[in-house]
Amino acid sequence: MTAYWCELAWLGGRRAEAGVLIDVGGGRIEGVSGGVSAPPPGAVRLDGITIPGLANAHSHAFQRALRGRTQQGTGSFWSWREQMYRVADRLDPDGYLALARATYAEMALAGVTCVGEFHYLHHGQGGTPYEDPNEMGRALIAAVADAGVRITLLDACYLHGGIGEPPAGAQQRFSDGGVEPWVGRVEALRDGDSVRIGAAIHSMRAVDPEAAAGVTRWASEGQRPLHAHVSEQPAENEACVAAYGRTPTALLADAAALEGSFTAVHATHLDDADVSLLGESSACCCVCPTTERDLADGIGAMRRLVDAGASLSLGSDSHAVIDLFEEARAVELDERLASGERGRHGAAELLRAATEGGHACLGWPDAGRIEPGARADLVTVSLDSVRLAGTEAETAVEALIFAAAASDVRSVIVGGRELVSDGRHVSIDVPRELHEAVTGVLA
Ligand SMILES: [Zn+2]
Repeated sequence: MTAYWCELAWLGGRRAEAGVLIDVGGGRIEGVSGGVSAPPPGAVRLDGITIPGLANAHSHAFQRALRGRTQQGTGSFWSWREQMYRVADRLDPDGYLALARATYAEMALAGVTCVGEFHYLHHGQGGTPYEDPNEMGRALIAAVADAGVRITLLDACYLHGGIGEPPAGAQQRFSDGGVEPWVGRVEALRDGDSVRIGAAIHSMRAVDPEAAAGVTRWASEGQRPLHAHVSEQPAENEACVAAYGRTPTALLADAAALEGSFTAVHATHLDDADVSLLGESSACCCVCPTTERDLADGIGAMRRLVDAGASLSLGSDSHAVIDLFEEARAVELDERLASGERGRHGAAELLRAATEGGHACLGWPDAGRIEPGARADLVTVSLDSVRLAGTEAETAVEALIFAAAASDVRSVIVGGRELVSDGRHVSIDVPRELHEAVTGVLA
């Protein structure tokens, strides 16, 4: 058993507690005691503020290679998508593994202990399956094992290039040709100690209603998390209404997708009926504000969704940056700009979305909290940086959410094992591997 003494720890309330002793054994938290003014003999000292492991609930690992390279010139989501397809079309399993491993290691440095990988790059060029049709998914599973974090592999069904259109170009690599072949492929994937298999409907642009019902059936039979991109762009709503007379959310409700453990990714452009449907089904909404800004998607109304009964999680999605503190504050700050009101989401609520909320929507209900029985995932953020110097216990949660950067993370423990020590990954030279993997893909 190892005891950790935290100068400050966030145990889920509005404020951080001072002097918290956390006992860890067998990868789980065995005890939590407050009011311990100094580290007892033998305890590991964690200076700063310690929080549960962060969950990055929406990731496309390969899009890390786009960073900076899509920031020149003008355009829209749709022109960005063409640039993204060009990178997707270059990847093979080895390049994918190297890029994902480095990207997940970057996440580990940022305090992420669990990633939800929304995976649709399944097949070889032109859509030809690899000898093992899950070779690309297995590359992602190998990548997290090396990087030391957990994964929920949200295997995405993707069948159409747009409503009623066949997949074209790079999209051919995404498609299994039908929902039954998709089921046949994902059935061969297995859960592991650090791996959960979940399902995804890419979007109601790329999956027809009948196939969406098939994906939902597979997810609900196995009680697996189900995610879908929902109403990221107004054009997606317009296409669905034109083709089916229904919004994407209404179509997903028709397909029974909202009845299980459902997460709507983005949920940016919703009407009142959509908000009610997601709220009444207690769906999770995964907000990805740094990507939504980057792609000029718009600002969602997350307060309205939470008030209706939905929960929140956060994702760095295209990895324009990987910093869950930036995602968390953006939910509130973007909504301030849109609403003219401050304080629509409190710091503790946002931190809950980054920890417990993300783990719950990825199928890890026993992670994301510092309490007895939970997985021993502990992230410690230094209060000595120029961003956080002068922080006091009373407002430490607010300082963390509204001013911390990913680079302030000093220590990360996953399942009781040290993964980041003094700001460095214990086994991976992350900047070097990122450089090699990104330039390798683009060469
Ligand atoms: Zn996405």
